[in-house]
Amino acid sequence: MNGAGGTGAGVGRCSACGRAATQVKTLLQGRAQGSQVVICDRCVRECEQTIADAPTRIPGGAHACAYCTKVEEHVAVIVGVGAKKICDECVDAYRAALG
Ligand SMILES: [Zn+2]
Ligand SMILES: [Zn+2]
Repeated sequence: MNGAGGTGAGVGRCSACGRAATQVKTLLQGRAQGSQVVICDRCVRECEQTIADAPTRIPGGAHACAYCTKVEEHVAVIVGVGAKKICDECVDAYRAALG
């Protein structure tokens, strides 16, 4: 998954927290086709914690997950992580990918 020739070639920075690939263990690409966003393992853990603790709804209008593009009404919860928003389904999938 990490290492040379991965799918993340050329993607160098977490879209949520802005950490560079060298500062984190893993960068995971967005799940939507042609997605330009990536998330690091640290953000995934952080989101996992947020959802486990008390998922607070982000105030304001309609929100969409930056990683799969699903809107709030199609997922259980969307949480904010750094500059991005992510849904519980993506957090689950990324957590599984991280092992
Ligand atoms: Zn991050
Ligand atoms: Zn999502």
